[in-house]
Amino acid sequence: MTDSEVPRQPAAFALWREAQDTRTRTRLGGIYYLLAWLLTWLFSAAPAELLGWGLAGVAYFALMLVVRLLHRLPPVQTPQALRVWLDRHWLLILLTALVWGLVHAWTLNNPQFASSWIIATLSTIAFSTALAFNFSMRKRPALLALGLLYLPGLVALALHWHEQRATLITLAFYLSYLVLALNRSHREYRNTLALELKLLEQQASLEQLSRTDSLTQLGNRYQFNSLFPALVASAQRQSDPLSLVLLDIDFFKRVNDEYGHACGDACLSAFAERMRQVFRRDSDALLRLGGEEFGVLMPHTSLEQARLLAESFRQELTQHGFSVQGHQLPLTASLGVGCFDLHRDDSAEAFFKRVDDALYLAKNTGRNCLIQA
Ligand code: GH3
Ligand code: MG
Ligand code: MG
Repeated sequence: MTDSEVPRQPAAFALWREAQDTRTRTRLGGIYYLLAWLLTWLFSAAPAELLGWGLAGVAYFALMLVVRLLHRLPPVQTPQALRVWLDRHWLLILLTALVWGLVHAWTLNNPQFASSWIIATLSTIAFSTALAFNFSMRKRPALLALGLLYLPGLVALALHWHEQRATLITLAFYLSYLVLALNRSHREYRNTLALELKLLEQQASLEQLSRTDSLTQLGNRYQFNSLFPALVASAQRQSDPLSLVLLDIDFFKRVNDEYGHACGDACLSAFAERMRQVFRRDSDALLRLGGEEFGVLMPHTSLEQARLLAESFRQELTQHGFSVQGHQLPLTASLGVGCFDLHRDDSAEAFFKRVDDALYLAKNTGRNCLIQA
């Protein structure tokens, strides 16, 4: 999954992250239940006598192991799909915990496990500790799983209070620690999540800032450099027209010289605003390529459509100019316009050069005109 596919909306991000973490952490668990049962069974007094139960246990924990491994994340990770996946996966975890809890209680009550109940008890401690630390993303199901794993054993020990009270009391104390640890681990998980989300948001806003020209709020050269080749490639693939308009304000140096740099800046902002009013399609990318040079990338736009729009912009500018800081400025621009042509342009650079040459020609032809590349 690429960075851009990570959901940015807080609730969707939390769900997405939880699902990824659950999937990663579940991989390890299953195998140890199977191993723990094998050891408990094989080190019992008479494994052969318990053959039926032994194999049933092996089959059950092997099945859980395989199902947990095969239960992959949905290919399309919508919040709804992730929610269903998480619910189902928790059901698998709870089913594993329940059966292990019962197995543990059984070994404590059955004299045939006199030599191996300790294996089951130690495994129960290990499983519940792992659970408290690794599956604290959701508090309630994790507490339930802890109960299912742990409580049957405690009940079995309580039935043999006289011989087992020391173990029972010790395990009960440990359970209280696990509940506290689970709580804290849950809080930490949520805090980390919030921090991670904040970081992603900051990253996105920095990215946005780095691509925006601060004076005009149009895309900047950096934005153009990443967008242009991508749009050319897409136009090439889909045989879809892509037009480019390049604009350069005429004699802009004079504006600065006569009215000052601040007025020049205001003029550039007003120019950008005028561009936004004319090139209004959502798919149009409006850019300040540098100084008093601008560009408009127009996907799905034929040369004729682009030329008409660019020409209307030029005429509107000629007729109305700008009123900036109390000065009425007659301002014009020279424009080059072109449409990507598979047969003429063997690269994005070649296409750009063709339109840039048209702009250069417009300048040399006397300015305030549009030349078609
Ligand atoms: P031409 O018609 O040949 O394009 O003439 P021009 O004066 O527009 O072109 P030239 O390249 O000689 O000068 C561009 C001017 O644009 C010079 C520079 O001071 C001004 N300029 C570039 N960036 C900015 C800016 O951010 N703010 C202001 N106020 N002026 C800028
Ligand atoms: Mg200029
Ligand atoms: Mg220039």
